[in-house]
Amino acid sequence: MSTTLFDSPSFANHEGVHAFFDEKTGLRAVIAVHSTARGPAVGGTRMWNYATSAEALEDVLRLSRGMSYKNAIADLEMGGGKSVIIGDSRAQKTPELFAAFGRAVDTLGGTYYAAEDVGVSVEDVAVARKVTPYVLGLKDGPEASGDPSPVTAEGVFRSTLVVARRLWKQDDLTGLTIAMQGVGHVGGYLADKLHKAGARLVVTDVNTELLAEVAARTNAEIVAPDAIYDVKADIYAPCALGATLNAQTLDRLTVKAVVGPANNQLATPEIGEALFARGVLYAPDYVINGGGIINVASELRARQAGGAYDPAWVEAKLGRLMETLEEILERSATEKRPTDQIAAVIAEARIEAAAAERDARRRAA
Ligand code: NAD
Repeated sequence: MSTTLFDSPSFANHEGVHAFFDEKTGLRAVIAVHSTARGPAVGGTRMWNYATSAEALEDVLRLSRGMSYKNAIADLEMGGGKSVIIGDSRAQKTPELFAAFGRAVDTLGGTYYAAEDVGVSVEDVAVARKVTPYVLGLKDGPEASGDPSPVTAEGVFRSTLVVARRLWKQDDLTGLTIAMQGVGHVGGYLADKLHKAGARLVVTDVNTELLAEVAARTNAEIVAPDAIYDVKADIYAPCALGATLNAQTLDRLTVKAVVGPANNQLATPEIGEALFARGVLYAPDYVINGGGIINVASELRARQAGGAYDPAWVEAKLGRLMETLEEILERSATEKRPTDQIAAVIAEARIEAAAAERDARRRAA
């Protein structure tokens, strides 16, 4: 390992970092618990063919911290954690491996809850669920929250309306052109909603079959994948990959706002500053794509209370998330700071307040 844990650039006072090895199944996994100040650490499990264990460690440290911020911004009583399984999800996945992973999660006794992420499906999570209660994102059962994509799309759609009201003083999307990169699970639902609200869509995807289908039902114009950055649009909606806001694309984009569900859209924090300097309103990704984790949180809540999935609770949390977005946009304008920096300040304040409360409770006990 070229870096050790404590001098890793991604180490941010994590509460715990746990490595697991199971000889029989070949499981090599790391679970990082960044913070439990607001509740149990919740975040997905990524199965990826990392070249080195140092790379896996970096990823899990970075992602788990990101979950603390995302969960705090969505005002959920959950901390941040994440796990990685080192391996090729297409070649090395077995039920035995996920049972071994479930046992690993179980040893943490509920400090961390796992869920789906890249390379890990609902079926894999269901295998782990047989050996531990500490997994979320189930498909079946009264508490199951199912596919998070429609709720993620709803959050991004409402965020687009918030931005349209702010920039163009209008309550729908009539007359606005939106360039969408990716029309998969979230992008597909989002395209329908944007179209219905009056937007003109220009879409792209590397899956040409899916693209043709979505374009046909939303009356959208199709462009080649790389041409999406050059579209004369009002809003760019990244719904596929991370880091598409970078030094190469910045000069090509002519939009007034970026509003989309993709994770980690800014290649570097400097890109957030550059967008702000150019007057482009960037709706921070982990704020506006929080619908999915809100949906997952409802499952945890149902589990803890012994109840069922509650759509009214999800709706209330989505409403609160939109208020937080409005606060971020307002503060960004008055404090003259990029939106992603304001979002981080709010998330950190919420985490610190919860940690202070927890410390006070511990002292009183
Ligand atoms: P998905 O895999 O269903 O959809 C992604 C789409 O992007 C696919 O159709 C794919 O073909 C397309 N794509 C890939 N590379 C492309 C390229 N170079 N150019 C154009 N299109 C390309 O994934 P999803 O669940 O819809 O998630 C989309 C994004 O939103 C991801 O970044 C994901 O991390 C993020 N996100 C998703 C959720 C959720 O609830 N699913 C929640 C939060 C964040």
